[in-house]
Amino acid sequence: MSNILTLALSKGRIFEETLPLLKAAGIEPIDDPETSRKLILDTNQPDVRLIIVRASDVPTYVEYGGADMGIAGKDVLLEHPDAELYEPVDLKIACCKLMTAGRENDPEQNGRLKVATKFVESTRRFYAEQGKQVDIIKLYGSMELAPLVGLADLIVDVVDTGNTLRANGLIPMEHIADISSRLIVNKASMKMKHTRIQQFIDQIRQAVREQNNG
Ligand code: AMP
Repeated sequence: MSNILTLALSKGRIFEETLPLLKAAGIEPIDDPETSRKLILDTNQPDVRLIIVRASDVPTYVEYGGADMGIAGKDVLLEHPDAELYEPVDLKIACCKLMTAGRENDPEQNGRLKVATKFVESTRRFYAEQGKQVDIIKLYGSMELAPLVGLADLIVDVVDTGNTLRANGLIPMEHIADISSRLIVNKASMKMKHTRIQQFIDQIRQAVREQNNG
């Protein structure tokens, strides 16, 4: 195992909100992933590199050792309930809620509910805990469309301001889980690179504390 620390994260909101935390831990990427086509980004720390992957692939890279650590939304982690990972820090960034949503004045449903979502595992668990049988329809995006065209009665999606739902004539209904991004760590890396990873965890924890007190 090399002494390089590899951190997997996704572009966009998570990357932007992670940058200040990394900076507080003394780590700054040399290239900007929004403009660079590189998928491996060196940093000012010779022993730390970032890899840019799809948000839903971050747990897979970390679990199987393609990265020592990663930053993943809790929504994504809840879809990987059996992943062998440590989840030592709640970064308190990219906060939102996993919710059901539907059309405001839809009549009460008699038969089995049809629920469209990309969060199949969380949705299955949510309804199973209530003893409700539902048909889950897997989608990869634009979930808001499903109730509008009769594909589903409800959707399960992450909601921040609720503007996207409202713009499509939907309202948030039931709260399933609070979501924020988490630092995750590969179990073997945690053993083999313990001192360096523990130092990183401590620095990130401190940065999260400062960001939330300041
Ligand atoms: P909203 O502010 O509710 O209109 O959110 C707009 C869209 O952004 C939602 O439909 C989600 O798909 C996405 N979104 C909002 N917050 C997050 C988040 N923390 N992580 C991932 N996607 C999000």
